[in-house]
Amino acid sequence: MKTIPLCCVIAVWLTLPSAAQVTEWQGEVRHSHRMGGCRGNLQITSRGIAYLTDHKKHARDWSYLDLKAVYIAPGKVLLSTYDKKKPFTLKVKEGEIPRDTMRFLLESFPKTLIVNASLPLPTTLFEIPASHRHRRGACQGILRAGTQRLTFESDQSAHSRTWRYGDVADLHSLHSFELTLTTREYQKFHYAGNRVFRFQLKEPMARSVYQDLWRRVNLGGTLELKARN
Ligand SMILES: [Zn+2]
Ligand SMILES: [Zn+2]
Repeated sequence: MKTIPLCCVIAVWLTLPSAAQVTEWQGEVRHSHRMGGCRGNLQITSRGIAYLTDHKKHARDWSYLDLKAVYIAPGKVLLSTYDKKKPFTLKVKEGEIPRDTMRFLLESFPKTLIVNASLPLPTTLFEIPASHRHRRGACQGILRAGTQRLTFESDQSAHSRTWRYGDVADLHSLHSFELTLTTREYQKFHYAGNRVFRFQLKEPMARSVYQDLWRRVNLGGTLELKARN
């Protein structure tokens, strides 16, 4: 059998363009400025998120370590970093960011993630029709809970969400027709204060279901932290 010298193997390996990096999605986007904007290509990869543009001053290449929080919707991405107060906002020019890319971030981005879409759950433990109360009015939808995530599918797509239990800071319920979620989503994303979602439930939620959710939000996080130490 013919053997390949080790030096050749190493040379080939070294010339591979970061073999481990997988591009999950890339597409044309627009970066909005106070006046006007610039255009470029957004790349979401297994290593991080990059914005490639001819407007060199605004080109970015973040590793996931550099990102404090990510907000992702079908048509836009907001990236919050440790060095800037305001998030970097990119709007998709054509089409949408696929749900598989959102799922990829849900499974791999370890910090605050806001997914502005209701993604199907692999297993639905319970679902309940609910009204999300706004300062004025409300939107209507369905709250669903799975083993790892909680979703709200709203008739106003801007209010649909998929939260990992770790993206919910707290939840409480005064009675069986009410549920309040305090999420890790910043109010208006870049201001201080966690966004609270108050739901009026259209069917009663059994105490045992509430306790199960409470455990997933509060003890799930604790167990994860313990496992990491
Ligand atoms: Zn720009
Ligand atoms: Zn709403």
